[in-house]
Amino acid sequence: MSHQLEHLRGQVDEINTKLLELLSQRAELVRAIGDVKKKQGINRFDPVRERDMLDQIVGKNPGPFDDDTVRHLFKQIFKASLDLQKQNHKKVLLVSRKRHPEDTVVMVGDEPVGDGKRTIVAGPCSVESEEQVRQVAQSLKKQGIRLLRGGAFKPRTSPYDFQGMGEEGLQMLRKAADEYDLKVISEIVNPSDMEMAERYVDVIQIGARNMQNFELLKAAGSVRRPVFLKRGMSATVEEFLFAAEYIVSRGNTQVMLCERGIRTYEKWTRNTLDISAVPLLKQESHLPVFVDITHSTGRRDIQRPVAKAALAAGADGIMLEVHPDPSVALSDANQQIDIPQFETFMEDMRVTGLIKPAKT
Ligand code: PEP
Ligand code: MN
Repeated sequence: MSHQLEHLRGQVDEINTKLLELLSQRAELVRAIGDVKKKQGINRFDPVRERDMLDQIVGKNPGPFDDDTVRHLFKQIFKASLDLQKQNHKKVLLVSRKRHPEDTVVMVGDEPVGDGKRTIVAGPCSVESEEQVRQVAQSLKKQGIRLLRGGAFKPRTSPYDFQGMGEEGLQMLRKAADEYDLKVISEIVNPSDMEMAERYVDVIQIGARNMQNFELLKAAGSVRRPVFLKRGMSATVEEFLFAAEYIVSRGNTQVMLCERGIRTYEKWTRNTLDISAVPLLKQESHLPVFVDITHSTGRRDIQRPVAKAALAAGADGIMLEVHPDPSVALSDANQQIDIPQFETFMEDMRVTGLIKPAKT
C-alpha cells in the first residue's frame, strides 16, 4: 500500500518538474514576443489573442477538470507571464536604483541635498507678510539651515480660505532669503507659472494634491530648478515613483521625494505617516527622500519623535512648518510651531547626532 502511494507521488513529482520546465519555456517565449511587440510599438496585452488561446485550450479539454477550471488555471499562467514583463518595465525606470545605483545628490544652488548630511526645510505654511518671512528666515540662519519654505499659491480645500499671496509672496520669500543667504522652496500649482517661478524660487514644490497633475509634472520636468515632489494623499509608493519619473523623463533629474502622510481612517493625526515608505523609496530609488512632519501629523506634540523616526528610517531630510505666531496664521494654525519651539526642536535633533551642530 505505502509502496503504491510512494510510486504515485513519484509520478506527481515528475509531472510537477515537467510542468515547471514547460511553464518556464512558455515564459521565455512570451518574453520574446513581448520584445518583438515593444520594437513594433504594439501593446503587450492582446485580449483577442487571449480569448483565442483559451477557446483552443478548452476545445481540447480531455477532463477531468471542467472547462471553467481549465480557463481559470490558464488565465493565471497568462497573468504570471504579463507580470513578468511588468517587473522588467519597473527595472528600467529612470528613478530606479537598478538604473542608477548611486544616490542622487540634488544641488540647490551651492547647497547639496542627499549627500549624507541631513537637510532641514522649514518655514511658514503660507507667506503672509514681509516681516513674517523675515523673522523665520532669521531664525533659520541662526540654526545653520539653508532651505526656507513658504506657500504663495495655496491649494486649499475650501475656495473661501486664504489662497496665498501669489507672485507677491514669492517676491517676499526671495527678499528674505537673499538677506540671510538662504534658498527658497515654494509650491507652484499652475504649469504656466513655472517660468515666472524660476525668477524667485530655487526649488519648485509640487504638492500632494497635484502629485498626479501630469501637465504640471511635465512642466516641472522642463524647468532648470530642482523639484520637491510630495506624495499624494492616496498615492501608492509605486504611483509616487511614476510621478517622479514624469519629471525625470523630461530631463530634470534633480528631484527630491517627500512622504507627507496618507489618508487613513485614523483621526488622531491629520494623515498617517507611512514610515515604511522611507526605506522603500530609498531602496527602490536613488532620489533624496524627505519626511514632512507637520502635514503628516497635523499636531505639534509628536513632531519630535516622528522626526527622529524619519531620520532613523533613513530620510535625507525633514520638512516642517514654522511661524512667528501660529495662533494667527492664515493657514494650518493648529500645526505650525513658533520660533522658540523650533529652536528647542532643533536642539533636540542635534542631541540625536543626526543633525549637525549649527555653524555660528
Ligand atoms: C505644503 O507643504 O505647503 C502643503 C500644502 O503640503 P501637502 O501638499 O503635502 O498637503
Ligand atoms: Mn501647511
